[in-house]
Amino acid sequence: MPVLEIKDLHVSVETEQGTKPILNGVDLVVRDGETHAIMGPNGSGKSTLAYTIAGHPKYHVESGSVTLDGEDLLAMTVDARARAGLFLAMQYPVEIPGVTVTNFLRTAKTAIDGEAPAIRGWVKDVKTSMSNLRMDSSFADRNVNEGFSGGEKKRHEILQLELLKPKFAILDETDSGLDVDALKIVAEGVNRAKDGTDLGLLLITHYTRILRYIRPDFVHVFIDGRVAEEGGPELADRLEDEGYDRFLTSASVG
Ligand code: ADP
Ligand code: MG
Ligand code: MG
Repeated sequence: MPVLEIKDLHVSVETEQGTKPILNGVDLVVRDGETHAIMGPNGSGKSTLAYTIAGHPKYHVESGSVTLDGEDLLAMTVDARARAGLFLAMQYPVEIPGVTVTNFLRTAKTAIDGEAPAIRGWVKDVKTSMSNLRMDSSFADRNVNEGFSGGEKKRHEILQLELLKPKFAILDETDSGLDVDALKIVAEGVNRAKDGTDLGLLLITHYTRILRYIRPDFVHVFIDGRVAEEGGPELADRLEDEGYDRFLTSASVG
C-alpha cells in the first residue's frame, strides 16, 4: 500500500542573515486514497514543506526523512521523484520558451511512464481534460507558463494532475487567486483525478473555501513549522469560524 511518510523533518533556508530554521519537526503520513489538508497562517512553512519534497535546492534538510513506499525520496533526483509517482505542482514554475503545453505534457508523461503515450489516444485525452477544465483548445499550443494568468496556471496544474496520473500529489495554494467559478472547476478537476483512483493528496491552503468542494479526510494545522493540531474535516469548519488566533502567541502575531 503506497504511503508518503514525513518523519521529524527539520528544514532551514540560507538567508543573508544566516541559516534560518523553518520546519521544526514535521510528522505526517499520507496513505493512498487519502486527502490531507495542511492549513496554517502565512509564513508558517507550508510552502517550504512542498518545496522540500519537490527537491528545491534552496531548502536544506537538517534532519528527518521523507519516504515514498519506504524509499528515501530526499536522495532522489527531481525526475526520479516524479517517476516514483509524486506530482508536485510547483516543479516547473518557470516559463519554458518554445515548449508548448501539448509537448510539455507528452514529454512529462513519457518521462514518468518510461514510454511515449500512443499519439491518438493521447491527443484525445488532452482534449477531454482541457474541455473538462473549460480551457480553450488554443491553450494547448501556448508556451508553458508564458503569460499565463493566475487562473490559467492553476488549471494547467490540474490538467497535469489529470493526465499524468500520479500516486501522490501536493497542491500548494491551488485555490489562491481564483474566483468562485474557477475554484469550482479546479476542485471538480481534482475530484475527477481522485475518483476511482488511489491518489493520495496533500492539499495546502490558507483558506477553508476549497475544502467545501474537496472534502479532506484529515486536517493538519501548521504553526511555526510544525503540525500543531490534527483532526478530521470538522477541524476545517472550526478554523473557518475561529481563524488561527487561538494557535498564535502574541510574539508570533507581531
Ligand atoms: P507559508 O507557505 O506557510 O506562507 P513559507 O514556507 O513560504 O510559509 O515561509 C515560511 C517562512 O520561511 C517565512 O518566514 C518565509 O519568509 C521564510 N522563507 C521561506 N523561503 C525563504 C527563502 N527562500 N529565503 C528566506 N526566507 C524564506
Ligand atoms: Mg496524519
Ligand atoms: Mg505558501
